[in-house]
Amino acid sequence: MTEYCIALDIGTSGFRCQALDRATGETLATSVTARHPIPGMNVIDHVNYAMVAGEEVANGLMIDAANKLFASLGIDLSKVSTVAICGNPFQLSLFQNIEIRDLAYAGKNMLESLGVVSPPRDGDVVKASDLGLRGMPDAVLIIPPAVTHEIGADAIAMLMITGVLDSKEPCLVVDYGTNAEMALIVDGKVYTGSAAAGPALEGQQIERGMLAAPGAIADADITDGGWRCSIIDESMTTREGDVVDPRTGITASAGAMHKKAVGITGTGVVAALCCGLEAGMIHPPKIDAPDGRLHLQDGVCISSADVDEAGKAIGALRAGFLTLLHEAGLWVEDVRLAYMSGASGLYVDAVKALRIGMVVPGAERIIQFGNTSIELARRIALGKVDMDDLRGFAKRLRATHCMFATAQTFKDIYAVEYSLWCCGMPMSEYNNMLDIYGLPHISEPTASPSVSRISATDLPDAEKVRVNILYDTGTVLKGAIDGCIQCGACADECPEDAIEIKEEGGSVFGFVKSDRCAGTACRRCERACPEGVLQISPFGISD
Ligand code: SF4
Ligand code: SF4
Repeated sequence: MTEYCIALDIGTSGFRCQALDRATGETLATSVTARHPIPGMNVIDHVNYAMVAGEEVANGLMIDAANKLFASLGIDLSKVSTVAICGNPFQLSLFQNIEIRDLAYAGKNMLESLGVVSPPRDGDVVKASDLGLRGMPDAVLIIPPAVTHEIGADAIAMLMITGVLDSKEPCLVVDYGTNAEMALIVDGKVYTGSAAAGPALEGQQIERGMLAAPGAIADADITDGGWRCSIIDESMTTREGDVVDPRTGITASAGAMHKKAVGITGTGVVAALCCGLEAGMIHPPKIDAPDGRLHLQDGVCISSADVDEAGKAIGALRAGFLTLLHEAGLWVEDVRLAYMSGASGLYVDAVKALRIGMVVPGAERIIQFGNTSIELARRIALGKVDMDDLRGFAKRLRATHCMFATAQTFKDIYAVEYSLWCCGMPMSEYNNMLDIYGLPHISEPTASPSVSRISATDLPDAEKVRVNILYDTGTVLKGAIDGCIQCGACADECPEDAIEIKEEGGSVFGFVKSDRCAGTACRRCERACPEGVLQISPFGISD
């Protein structure tokens, strides 16, 4: 009888799972959600939502999405023996429905005053049905350990799967995300850290930013007559768009693809920053253009505030890896090998990322790896990595983990980065500021590094099995709205078409599609309410 196992990666932008044949390791099916089931655009939004709406509601949304995703795999779930998950500590804690306040609040005094006790997070094996996973009565759920409260199983995956631990030369690996986990490997010793970069380099907190979807500008290049935009089409392939004058937005020549641009992804933001800096149009945070904006296709722009946001993210990244180099007694010219991990690390133009400061400047070779979490979940599910291996590895990493929040070097370099990106300090002053802090200078980035991609996509075996996409988890949040006059202003204002107001049994209720809602980062519906009676956070899961 065939025995199945399931690998589940719980990412910030959604879930991805694969059904595997336990005996052969063959991938049988892949299913992904188009969005994360908890309202919000990034992990900070998800945690905020869970703190306000309640952890049980957030957990219920995740378990509901996992059940629907597993059902879409098309396997007999009763024959599943093992489910293995991977993700960052926030996501795994929400999935397990355990304490998250210790992850959200940094201060020890604050945690003590709230009576918060950190759960162990040292790996666990539980019955899948105990967490509410349906149709698999005999399955166990394996939860890998975290290293610290800020470095999770996803970082363990990054280190184990990329093979960086075997590197014969110093190398730096960074998982580019809202929290950028990073590790410097020197002679087998691993220095880790996690920089709170924020979501700007994923296209969020950017005025016209959006996740990768049809119509998003994903790249830009300086060419004759202006900048050539590249746009994602309906098949999620990036195609050449129009050439546009970045000062005015006037189209110089139409691209082969007639797809209207509707926003810009994180990779597009990186490309626009690189073009703007190289063209001498960006003097952070100011933009040298008649209206102070960089113009891309179809009215999509980068504003000075966007440069400020993206700059702070780049500054946090660079302060992070320079701090690790300093801890290890190395500096930028000593590290010639860089790995870029995570979906952003895979799809971004690596040379543009290097030029704007996201990659260690001495890198002569850049390897783009993509997301490694699902591969670790696969290996755990198939029994190729056991809990003792994972715990031992996590313990080893804890010994040389650097807490950036308390590291003076990080604070000093971030102050320099902030001056550069947000206060108009010229780049020529950067090294003078490092002198003040007793740090070595940083050099110009390598002119022509070699770049290689380990895979074209960040899903194992994506070319072998069809990928089912769950566009709508169908979970609706519902709450009574006292004082609602049913004017419809909230629904009209919602950019995601996520909210509906209906009368039921003589009372007025709001219904919000959980996976479409942008959550705490948005709240446009609440601000639009003329009666001031709409608050969506207390809504519960509708039957
Ligand atoms: S307007 Fe309201 S319902 Fe719509 S996405 Fe924003 S927060 Fe969610
Ligand atoms: S905007 Fe306010 S009053 Fe109008 S329908 Fe929405 S909740 Fe009701």
